Formats: sequence, structure tokens, C-alpha cells
Amino acid sequence: MAIEKVGVVGAGQMGNGIAHVFARAGYDVVLTDISAEALQQAVALIGRNLDRQISKGTLSEAEKSEALGRISTTQTLTDLGPCDLIIEAATEREAVKTAIFEELVPHLAPHTILTSNTSSISITRLASRTDRPEKFMGFHFMNPVPVMQLVELIRGIATDDETFRACLDVVERLGKTAATSEDFPAFIVNRILMPMINEAVYTLYEGVGSVSSIDTSLKLGANHPMGPLELADFIGLDTCLAIMNVLHDGLADTKYRPCPLLTKYVEAGWLGRKTKRGFYDYRGETPVPTR
Ligand code: NAD
Repeated sequence: MAIEKVGVVGAGQMGNGIAHVFARAGYDVVLTDISAEALQQAVALIGRNLDRQISKGTLSEAEKSEALGRISTTQTLTDLGPCDLIIEAATEREAVKTAIFEELVPHLAPHTILTSNTSSISITRLASRTDRPEKFMGFHFMNPVPVMQLVELIRGIATDDETFRACLDVVERLGKTAATSEDFPAFIVNRILMPMINEAVYTLYEGVGSVSSIDTSLKLGANHPMGPLELADFIGLDTCLAIMNVLHDGLADTKYRPCPLLTKYVEAGWLGRKTKRGFYDYRGETPVPTR
């Protein structure tokens, strides 16, 4: 069964980028969110990101309108029924994702492949709450989706070879590179990346360094393109905390204990760039460290 129509659930940071790359690769995309504002912002952002590609000379005006013409939006989840492939990219909370799958599944064709862009939640457990664990996979894009080359593909315990191969083909058509991970907490990228970010927050919490000195140290001392606190703000501190909790609970090792300072920022609603405040304050011209 050829994959031509793709449903994307959640039009936040990741959902808009996912819709962008699928539309650019010639797929028809149906993008859904519970928030009308999120859908409007996502389409506007896709337009601006396509404009950036035009100004770099990698895209023409005609290709931009073709791509935008392939994206439709809806607040009705069940409008994704006719899709061949679904990528769920809603908020990183298991109850949210499970509720989405439970509502969606009765409306899907038998061939439809269901996937989640989750950064950390068990694919096997999410799959077990659907009618098609053999057609369920982790399809994990990196942020920002149009720029980052990697897609982590995660097979649940029941995922069949046909589904895995179909997803590999999709990654190839997107012009991206797949890396396969077994289904263990946070998979590969975040298993390694998040403890580093959490350790950077501990380094701040214990007063070893300021926000600026920690980020400067890793940028200039380890050649990282972004400092770990800047990166945490970019990812979203709620997402970082959720991933640390999954590692802590799933691997039962105290080395994954989320830093209390990370929890405090999330409790304050300072979630990073998306709320204009996190380890930096983004409300002015240039970001200013908040500690
Ligand atoms: P986000 O907060 O920017 O967006 C989440 C969107 O989901 C919001 O627009 C929200 O309105 C929507 N939503 C919530 N409940 C919904 C529902 N029931 N139906 C439809 N839409 C709903 O979050 P994000 O950063 O885009 O993350 C989305 C997913 O992608 C998460 O699973 C996250 O772990 C994963 N992810 C995030 C990153 C990152 O760097 N932020 C990277 C890779 C994967």
C-alpha cells in the first residue's frame, strides 16, 4: 500500500515542521490540533520557513505554493481517517497520546500505519492501546524538523517488518537519514542528550557556573553549536522534564533524577522559547540569562 496521505496530530513546534517536510516531499498532509490558534500559527510559520528557503535559493515561489497547497488543517481529529500514515506529535503526556489514539483508531483503514513522534514514551505501551500494534512505530524527528537530518525509527515489540520497511522508505523520500533504536526509555538521542542537559541544570543549581558560563563552556570547549541551557530552552523545559521523568521511572536509576531547578522552571511556566522565558528571557531584542 503506497503512502500518499499523511496525518499529523499536534501543530506545535514539531507538528508544523513535520507537515512542512512531508508537503515538500509531495505528500498530502492533514494537520490537526485542538487549538485553532496553534493551527493558524503553524501554517504562518511554515510559510515563513519556506520563504527562508526561497531566500537561500533552495526553493522557488511555485514550489512554495505547491507545498502550502498540499497542507490542509482541521480541529476534528477524525478527519485524519483517510490517511495512510499518521504521525502523532501532540504534547509529551502519555494520557494525551493514548486518548488521541483511542479516538482515532475506529476511523482508520486497516492498512494505516500509526506512529508517534514521542521523545521518550514506550512505543510498545502506546501500541498496546491501539488495535494495530504490528502497524505501530516510533517516528522521531529532531527539532527543527526542516533542518535536522536524523529520524530515529523505533520498533515496538510487535512492529512487523512491512511497517518498518514502509517507514524507512518514507524517511528516504523525505531526504532524511534513519537510525534504528530499540524501544527503551528515551531511545538513543535523548538517552544521551537529556542527562547532559539535566547535568547542566545541576551545574547551574549548585552554583558551579552561571547560565552564560555553562553555555559558553560547552560551545567553545566541546564545540557544541548551542549551549545545553540554550538547547533546553529551544526544546522546551516541560519536554526536557518529561523525558527525564521517563528515564528515571523507566530505568529506576538515581542518575536520571530530574534537577529540582528544572522542575521549578516548569512549575513557573517558564518553558523556554515557546513561553518567551526559560534559562533566558526572550522578551527583548537579545536573550538575557534569567540566573
Ligand atoms: P508543543 O507544546 O510545541 O506542541 C504540542 C501541540 O499539541 C500543541 O499545539 C497542542 O495544542 C497540541 N495538542 C495537545 N493535545 C492535543 C490533542 N488531544 N489533539 C491534538 N493536538 C493536541 O510540543 P512539541 O515540542 O511540538 O512536541 C510534540 C511532540 O514531539 C512530543 O511528543 C515531544 O516529545 C516530541 N518531540 C519534541 C521535540 C522538541 O525538541 N520539542 C523533539 C522531538 C520530539
